[in-house]
Amino acid sequence: MSALLWLRRDLRLHDHPALRAALEQSDGLIVVFCFDQRLLSGPHASGPRTQFLLECLADLDRSLRERDGRLVVRRGPPERELPALARACGARSVHFSADAGPFARERESRVSEALARSGIETQSHPGLFVVDDLESIRTGAGRPYTVFTPFFRTWLGQRRRGVLDAPRGLPAPPSAIDLGSLPRLSELGLEQEVRDPLPGGERAARAALRSFLSGAVADYEEGRDTLGRNGVSRLSPYLHFGCISPGELEHRLPHGAAAEAFARQLCWRDFYAHVLRHFPANARSEHQSRYRGRIRWSHARRRFEAWCEGATGFPLVDAGMRQLRREGWMHNRARMLVGSFLTKDLGIDWRWGERWFMRLLLDGDEASNNGNWQWIASVGVDPQPAFRRIYNPTRQQARFDPDGAYVRQYLPELRSVPDRYLAEPWRMPPEVQRQAECLIGRDYPEPIVDHALARQQALARYRAVS
Ligand SMILES: Cc1cc2nc3c(=O)[nH]c(=O)nc-3n(C[C@H](O)[C@H](O)[C@H](O)COP(=O)(O)OP(=O)(O)OC[C@H]3O[C@@H](n4cnc5c(N)ncnc54)[C@H](O)[C@@H]3O)c2cc1C
Repeated sequence: MSALLWLRRDLRLHDHPALRAALEQSDGLIVVFCFDQRLLSGPHASGPRTQFLLECLADLDRSLRERDGRLVVRRGPPERELPALARACGARSVHFSADAGPFARERESRVSEALARSGIETQSHPGLFVVDDLESIRTGAGRPYTVFTPFFRTWLGQRRRGVLDAPRGLPAPPSAIDLGSLPRLSELGLEQEVRDPLPGGERAARAALRSFLSGAVADYEEGRDTLGRNGVSRLSPYLHFGCISPGELEHRLPHGAAAEAFARQLCWRDFYAHVLRHFPANARSEHQSRYRGRIRWSHARRRFEAWCEGATGFPLVDAGMRQLRREGWMHNRARMLVGSFLTKDLGIDWRWGERWFMRLLLDGDEASNNGNWQWIASVGVDPQPAFRRIYNPTRQQARFDPDGAYVRQYLPELRSVPDRYLAEPWRMPPEVQRQAECLIGRDYPEPIVDHALARQQALARYRAVS
């Protein structure tokens, strides 16, 4: 009797509960991935992330072949493709890793119903989050959490599953089955928009993990906020596509304060998945009802474009946005600043920022992206008064990029600007501009807002509807 393993964003062989169950419960295994047009051209369509996905799948196929297995590829909705494939292989069950977002969950239900009509059973398994059963985490009153710190305390006390090894060998799919093939990005109607992305795949993920565990983790608590140095793991795209299991990652952390600080960050990922699982409407509108439909967001296109291009005239904001454009990834500290700048200084709708991030981020994740955008726009869970999350770009630069290494890396036009003017280049006297070969208004833009004034206006906008 055969089983199907339906992959989505669990693209690995190590620590894979659905894979383990499929192998234990059947003699034959068919590992399948479906390219679903609804995702490829939906609101979260992304060339960079899809290219990363293709690399993950190619890497996985290589690992499967090394164990005598193969990846089967289908193009079409899984509720159509999976029953047809299961019937063709005589499979009696389909295993998958359960996801949290509204589209993913609805698709799981549709697939289960379609398979049930053919008498085929579906089994859902954990594996996408550190804690297996995020749904069971509840407040004392039995409600889902909407504040992070108490969630974190409960999360720490949850049972952890043991880490599973990768299988040594795998059954080959029946020879009569058409394996399909991985498409090229252009065949999916998408294009690579970033120049310097991380490579996808479980091999690259495990190499990045090894390098983090032997280096930056020791100083993570201090190093995670310093821009311009490798103080963070950069594992987020691999976590998003499940090239590394979050459970294994937590399990392999050393003991001590630095690793605890890192585990806390992993918990934010589980927290936002928990939130979206329980509040799916957050995907479209503000979690806090007092702001829903009441804040008058700006839709000023020119200013939004200046933000997207990294041409706001505020160096740290621009460096973050250009890092995103170049690498499909941005440091968390910069994400917070550019999010604050868009929603508070420019007053632009957080959904515009959310969408731009989803287009370019390799780690673009519905739950984490939406949760963080609502957090920085002060309209989401884990609420704080708006003034707490309005960041001053000049002060942030002095604190988190004191030597200007990050800004100079992404803004070559500011390379020769003296340190004392680097956060506010518009203050350079004309003579210094000439010496630095950076004329403000020609080589680098004037600031598009006055931060102090924009801050007052932002506070007034929130006060008006509070
Ligand atoms: C406006 C905004 C949008 C964001 N969008 C995303 C997104 O689409 N996808 C995404 O994975 N992260 C998102 N983040 C969170 C965070 O910026 C990234 O997870 C982090 O920068 C990834 O880099 P890293 O792997 O080196 O992180 P590390 O510091 O090494 O942290 C390890 C892991 O913890 C998790 N993590 C850390 N911080 C957060 C956080 N604030 N929220 C959720 N998980 C976290 C990530 O999985 C990360 O890989 C966003 C943050 C902001 C402010």
